[in-house]
Amino acid sequence: MNELIIRQPDDWHVHLRDGDMLAAAAPFTARQCGRAIVMPNLVPPVVTVDEAHAYRQRILAAVPAETGFEPLMTLYLTEQTTVAELARAAENPYIHAVKLYPAGATTNSDRGVRDPLAIDPLLAELARTGLPLLVHGEVVDPQVDIFDREARFIEQVLVPIRQRFPELRIVMEHITTEDAVAFIRTQEDGVGATITAHHLLYNRNAMLVGGIRPHYYCLPVLKRERHRQALLTAATSGDPRFFMGTDSAPHTQGAKESSCGCAGAFTAYAALELYAEAFDQVGKLNMLEAFTSVNGPNFYGLPLNESRVRLTRHPQSVPDYFEVGAAERLIPLRAGETLSWQAVRL
Ligand SMILES: [Zn+2]
Repeated sequence: MNELIIRQPDDWHVHLRDGDMLAAAAPFTARQCGRAIVMPNLVPPVVTVDEAHAYRQRILAAVPAETGFEPLMTLYLTEQTTVAELARAAENPYIHAVKLYPAGATTNSDRGVRDPLAIDPLLAELARTGLPLLVHGEVVDPQVDIFDREARFIEQVLVPIRQRFPELRIVMEHITTEDAVAFIRTQEDGVGATITAHHLLYNRNAMLVGGIRPHYYCLPVLKRERHRQALLTAATSGDPRFFMGTDSAPHTQGAKESSCGCAGAFTAYAALELYAEAFDQVGKLNMLEAFTSVNGPNFYGLPLNESRVRLTRHPQSVPDYFEVGAAERLIPLRAGETLSWQAVRL
């Protein structure tokens, strides 16, 4: 297959940032995706409905209006979040989910929740209203090896939350292990998972062999090849519980290429091309549209996009960097290399 036409995708997990980085990164998502679930981990985080509204306006101002891009806003759950604020969020047409970060798990997560099992009134309100809980699924216990943190989160946090709140709608974000795939497959309605393009394309060798490659460092961190294989099988299976979420997470070059570099890979510049490459690797391009453009809207109860995108097998080179403001650079994943697909909106 050298060409396919699919419905326009949506990105169900993306970091658009703020200020100069928002201006640099958001147009890429807007050109390719109809909608995106926008992560709230700004500094300070987006914790109230009013803050989400203000952020939404800044996003709309940063993207070309003709794209028709619709940011789907989220709130950042803290230990100070109130039941009343969640009730307001659930009634708000622009807010589509609430994000749970275990405190300290990833970029700008220090205001997250220290004990996710100690916020029952908040989880009960989400279950009552149907507003989905999006989870960064890693424990932060320093005793737990970083490669085991996702599997441990499932048993220590997710399984108990599911037992206490079976009605609660949950998306396990950016899953990276066969353990997470197995867990999601055992769940009934109301549980889904996003999978990034980079976790479908790369295992941890890409980050660590032949030198440390900071642009491949993300959280949850890349895992072993058998985990990548499990993710690829899940994403290309057509199972409606798995859908596209790039976790595209831009940082400036200096913040990545540092003695303590930030986690995050910038993939939004070519999200669909990267996913197409992963699906093509296993001969499953025919399953791409379900994953990128159908399963996500169905989970969130939103209509499918009506416009279409044409994907062509056509090598294109990736720029070495994108400008951020006047003085900074953003290095895309696979900078200076090639992509094998090209996506054009119809
Ligand atoms: Zn993320």
